[in-house]
Amino acid sequence: MGVLADETLPRGELEQQQLERLRSQLTIMLADNPFYRNKLHAAGIRSATDITCMADLTRLPHTTKQELSEDQREHPPYGTNCSLPHEAYSRLHQTSGTTGERLRWLDTPQCWNWWGRCWQAVYRAAGVGADDRIFFAFSFGPFIGFWSAYEGASQLGALAITGGGMSSQQRLQAILANQATVLVCTPTYALHLAEVANGLGMDIANSAIRRTIHAGEPGASIPATKSKIERAWGARCFDHAGATEVGAWGFECDAQDGLHVNESEFICEVLDPQTLQPSEEGELVVTNLDRAAMPVVRYRTGDRVRWHDQDKCPCGRTYRRIAGGVIGRLDDVLIIRGINVYPSAVEAAVRQFDQIVEYAVEAFRRGEMDELVVRVELVEGESDDAGSLRADLERALHENLGIRAGVEFAGSRELPRFELKAKRVTDSRPRP
Ligand SMILES: [Zn+2]
Repeated sequence: MGVLADETLPRGELEQQQLERLRSQLTIMLADNPFYRNKLHAAGIRSATDITCMADLTRLPHTTKQELSEDQREHPPYGTNCSLPHEAYSRLHQTSGTTGERLRWLDTPQCWNWWGRCWQAVYRAAGVGADDRIFFAFSFGPFIGFWSAYEGASQLGALAITGGGMSSQQRLQAILANQATVLVCTPTYALHLAEVANGLGMDIANSAIRRTIHAGEPGASIPATKSKIERAWGARCFDHAGATEVGAWGFECDAQDGLHVNESEFICEVLDPQTLQPSEEGELVVTNLDRAAMPVVRYRTGDRVRWHDQDKCPCGRTYRRIAGGVIGRLDDVLIIRGINVYPSAVEAAVRQFDQIVEYAVEAFRRGEMDELVVRVELVEGESDDAGSLRADLERALHENLGIRAGVEFAGSRELPRFELKAKRVTDSRPRP
């Protein structure tokens, strides 16, 4: 349902549209944006007409977070990536600073409208419409994700209900009292809410919630996590991906086989992070096409992704897909005894076990050896007296990671719970 004509254009037409929009962005940047004018000039681009076809995209320079952060430090508070005077902007958000420094990001009313439009694509693909009541289980703060999701919900004509500044119990009560039909939060928090509801004897599996939409972590694309959320909430669970600097670039459709890239609003490339050449799996690099007041060109997101091997999606959209969602952050990978271990692969193993409510991953050095231990906390009342859970989890971890990892049990309520992005990994090994 809800597929727009723009989303099903033949590739040739879609790329022509991308090219035209890219050129109009470049025209603005060359005229009015000091940050990108300098970068484009240094790359030998003097006019938007220098870009004549999609293959010319490779002539454009990449952008890194470090560059943007240095620019903001040298030109406080907002840097030189502004195509308009500061008075033209109406919204300010900040990155969560998971890697390095925080970035400040400005939007004009027009850019903010674009954010809402991108989010409408997320909702439409998840089968969410004007009749829905969407609950945002999140303390909004300076982060753009949920503010933009809220904007998108309002544009859609749905009822947008904020869960800011509430405890988990208050959020659950608000969800039930308002008969909310859609829950938007991180995948970790959806499971945490389910745990709290269970403790309070609240029946959320039979509540009005029929869709859950998640971002901030790969969880909603990890089959075991998705299925756990779906069972807890009696709803279908959808993944979404985006970033402050970039926009809401990816969404899951009804076919639920990978994340579509919103190619009407973004040009996405997957590049080998070392050679920066196109690759089937590698770093996601994004150019946004309608945020000219503070744009990004070929922005290196740091997200590791893999193209889906099939072009055609049963939903009819011609937008390409990322297989299995975002695999993880490039800098999150743990190299254990020479093997790359993504935290999402640990999650995929742990979430197969309903007895486990929370977990943490610890990498450390014992003698000369790298060791990996997964500490798990069991649901109240569960125990592993027979030792079978430990053996089954060790086997699942070995299958998913390709290396052996130890399993330890944490006490009740010992491991932290998370609302925003979960931080479950600690690496105490000496830096090389
Ligand atoms: Zn699809």
